[in-house]
Amino acid sequence: MNDSYITCPECGTVNLNNTYCSNCNALLDVVMKRNLEREKKNQEKIKLEEASAKDPSKIEIFLKKGSEHRNVIIRTFFQASYYVWMFLAFAVGGLISMIIAAAAG
Ligand SMILES: [Zn+2]
Repeated sequence: MNDSYITCPECGTVNLNNTYCSNCNALLDVVMKRNLEREKKNQEKIKLEEASAKDPSKIEIFLKKGSEHRNVIIRTFFQASYYVWMFLAFAVGGLISMIIAAAAG
């Protein structure tokens, strides 16, 4: 077993074979710390991607909510918008797959 003395970067306490500081609980393992930071960054990136992917459904929910409004005019407007939105989403999706198919073939 290799004994490794690590001086805590947070409080200066010397720790023997500790992953966390015995005094202030700071993470002492530099490699582990780097991995944790990388993992944190990855998770933030995934969260951002999920948030941007959720955007279209947010519009859908908003339009659906509006289409249940008790005012007939607003309801009709939202229902029309919802169908236009669904049509656009469908059309854009179809267009993209057509372009991909054309580029591939
Ligand atoms: Zn410490």
